[in-house]
Amino acid sequence: MQEFGKKSPTAKLSDLGLDVAVAHWNLSPEELTSKTLELGQGELNDAGALSVSTGKFTGRSPKDKFTVKDAITEKSVDWGDVNIPIAPEVFDALYDKVCAYMKGKEVWVRDAYACADPKYRLNIRVINETPWANLFCNDLFLRPTAAEIETQTPDWVILQAPGFQADPAVDGTRQANFTIVNFTRKVILIGGSGYTGEMKKGIFGVLNFLLPHEHKVLSMHCSANEGKDGDVALFFGLSGTGKTTLSADPNRALIGDDEHGWAEGSVFNFEGGCYAKCIDLSEEKEPQIWAAVKPGALLENIKFFPGTKTVDYTDGSITENTRVAYPIDFIPNAKEPSYGGNPKNIFFLTCDAFGILPPISKLTKAQAMYHFISGYTAKVAGTEVGVTEPQTTFSACFGRVFLPLHPTKYAELLGKKLDEHTDVNVWLINTGWSGGSYGVGSRMSLKYTRAMITAAMKGELNDVAFEAHPVFGVLMPKSVPGVPAEILNPRQTWADQDAYDRKANELAQLFVKNFDKYAAQANEEILSAAPTVMDIVA
Ligand code: ATP
Ligand code: MN
Repeated sequence: MQEFGKKSPTAKLSDLGLDVAVAHWNLSPEELTSKTLELGQGELNDAGALSVSTGKFTGRSPKDKFTVKDAITEKSVDWGDVNIPIAPEVFDALYDKVCAYMKGKEVWVRDAYACADPKYRLNIRVINETPWANLFCNDLFLRPTAAEIETQTPDWVILQAPGFQADPAVDGTRQANFTIVNFTRKVILIGGSGYTGEMKKGIFGVLNFLLPHEHKVLSMHCSANEGKDGDVALFFGLSGTGKTTLSADPNRALIGDDEHGWAEGSVFNFEGGCYAKCIDLSEEKEPQIWAAVKPGALLENIKFFPGTKTVDYTDGSITENTRVAYPIDFIPNAKEPSYGGNPKNIFFLTCDAFGILPPISKLTKAQAMYHFISGYTAKVAGTEVGVTEPQTTFSACFGRVFLPLHPTKYAELLGKKLDEHTDVNVWLINTGWSGGSYGVGSRMSLKYTRAMITAAMKGELNDVAFEAHPVFGVLMPKSVPGVPAEILNPRQTWADQDAYDRKANELAQLFVKNFDKYAAQANEEILSAAPTVMDIVA
């Protein structure tokens, strides 16, 4: 076997059962970029970022994500359609098969870690089949120093083999691709999919198990940033609601854009980079993300204007989920190390394509718990012609698909934090539609959303008048500096206010129906925060 690059003298791939021809250890971003170009697996855009196609998969494949049911997970994991069990023997056999597939190949290995707070550091070793997937890991995970690489041993291993195809009939998978998490062997095994997000969210799932279960630390699907006075803000939300966009703020230090832990006195990033959506990216609206597209960054599934190397960010023809991955220090005011103190403001982001929820509202503790457990967003329906009705998603804790434990475990931890820190303000932000549902109204201007969030963080809403939303009960400010007062009450923005009332009532019913499954575990106080469903004669 030939080996190149920097590694610990004791590190051996044979310990993992691998017998490869060439191993490149911990290459620099420049080296990984040139290797990718040499292999014809990518191109540089006109800003010098590496652009690749992730292949058949341009998003995660939740139905092919399995967790090994073993002594560690059997009684603790919330088994079901989110956490799909698989037997240890099935994993072992598939692992050996992937190793056999890797035999004689050229691989890229990277030592990295998760959790910026040294107390919770989790060392990771990733073995990739392509250099660009290894660049992704360099950008997204935390980067050890050269000295640390010499000595660190992995806690977890990711073995990623996109070119391997499982045979469902023999291998026990659903189809050719799979991501399997094994807590006993501490391995994430990925086959058949080159979508890099499987690795990132694979580790997120591991931490969502380990931190609450073993350390009583709340793991969160949120972004985080910090003001000049050290005040930390968290932004929870499902995909596309604005975590990455809104946490990139020139006036605040970025802690992280997607995954964090809240330990007593510390909010820390799990990752060392960002994974931003690129669809419709513009320099004017998102200058920081725009400027991060440079050498060392990885563009996924974008298209160039014909005959050029200029990205056409409006092109969603490969996928709407076009992405750019970059190390966090590509954002000028990123905080390193990436952690701060207890949060002062928490924002729940929802992209409500029905246009019902107010653009900003203040939540009581009970409402905060209710909305955290609900985890609502409504997406614009698929791109099929004629389908205009938005689709509701309720995803507990704003990240149900990433949670190995029952959602109430995370909700209990959040409830405890809110009880202990009564000075934390919780806000609900609708980054979605205003003036009508999708098709009639329009998306909230990013400028106004930013202004509302800034006002909340600066304490400028402490003394303004509020009114309660008639259905959801949340408190809507009557004025916000820099924002037209007319948009603050969503009902006023609809031309047909009766239509608003009917839609609001419909949405309230959906909230109540969704909450049914958690109602038994929720106390009176939380249940009292449910929206009021009215008998409206249509
Ligand atoms: P993921 O979990 O998939 O990473 P995310 O929560 O980080 O998702 P973003 O990448 O921030 O989501 O995506 C929000 C998208 O919505 C961006 O493309 C942004 O430009 C767009 N957008 C439009 N209007 C707004 C608004 N008012 N507030 C926030 N984002 C907006
Ligand atoms: Mn994001």
